[in-house]
Amino acid sequence: MKITNVEVLVLKSPGLYNRPAGSEEPLGPTYMGLVRVSTDAGITGYSDMETSAPVAKAAVEAPSWSEPGNECFEGLASLIVGENPLEPERLWYKMYRGSIYYGRRGVAIQAISAIDIALWDIMGKFYGQPVCVLLGAKWRDRVRAYASTLFRATPEAMREAARRYLDQGFTAIKFGWGVFGEDAGRDVRLVEAARTEIGDGIDLLIDTGWFVERTPKQAIQVVRSLEPYRPFFIEEPLHPEDYDGYRRLAEAVETPIACGEQEATEWGFHDLITRAKVDILQPDLTRCGGFTVARKIVHIAERANVLVIPHSWSSDLLTAASLHLNAFQRRAVFIEFNTSQGPLSRELVNNPLRMQDGYLEVPTAPGLGVEVNQEVIEKYRIA
Ligand code: MG
Repeated sequence: MKITNVEVLVLKSPGLYNRPAGSEEPLGPTYMGLVRVSTDAGITGYSDMETSAPVAKAAVEAPSWSEPGNECFEGLASLIVGENPLEPERLWYKMYRGSIYYGRRGVAIQAISAIDIALWDIMGKFYGQPVCVLLGAKWRDRVRAYASTLFRATPEAMREAARRYLDQGFTAIKFGWGVFGEDAGRDVRLVEAARTEIGDGIDLLIDTGWFVERTPKQAIQVVRSLEPYRPFFIEEPLHPEDYDGYRRLAEAVETPIACGEQEATEWGFHDLITRAKVDILQPDLTRCGGFTVARKIVHIAERANVLVIPHSWSSDLLTAASLHLNAFQRRAVFIEFNTSQGPLSRELVNNPLRMQDGYLEVPTAPGLGVEVNQEVIEKYRIA
């Protein structure tokens, strides 16, 4: 079997990304890049990708641009067309090495991530096994889900939103950024409202976001102000590259500190563990380097006694991929479940993932175990 084509399809939702003003849901992504890897065996692999899709499209589809023997500026597809898709680790490094001058992080690693996921999808379909089994372990059939949504602007809207997730059966809820950080007093009232509504038995997760750029001392104050409401974790209170700030914060507070959705490669996550000393890593499969990197992150995290709770906010494709990563790790805690109802979140696959009794089932069909809906792709495709 050989890879015959690697494409990036650019999708656009008719709804615009919003920050909810009341208790309504966010609409989810406006734009999405979808990687499609084709083979001469008729097996096709897919992954979405949370990045600038037009830039990723250029990086993937650019021509070969180096002297032979000195591959540093290559279009990613040119590096792997003709190769065996059953060797994702070798192809990962070939893409990383072959784009090294313009790549390493950012859009190049995000495109490599999506291609890598698509290769694992192909591998699963070829061997007739779900990705988690190919990774080496299916420790569980289902993973506890947390509802992942944005902060609402008033305590009443927070309570209404929290109530709705409880009614849907969630046993854990994360509220993220949005209005958080604009007013420290209101921030506390919003979190207090959520905790009051959900009671003691439900986990409450807080993503403060880092767009409000804090010093480590300010972040310590934010975390301490929320500790009375017993957050399961507090996510990204600092700039993603403030490794030393994270260490000061993590050492100063009891609450587990989570970060890593912006991080990439095994080297980056090694720094989060050893230098930033955070409690929870949140690799996003479509940004960290795909399964090939994420399985290494799981291994180094297990040894370091750090939890891995994958970041996963775009579509059912990514949620399915993240379920496989969770099935593979011994200490899985949560699957992040994006509650937005936008079409790119909810319509991309034929059999949308459903939360039941607070859990999502790990897909059992070969590969990622979800089937991309071709009509939906054509409906929203703009490039
Ligand atoms: Mg986040």
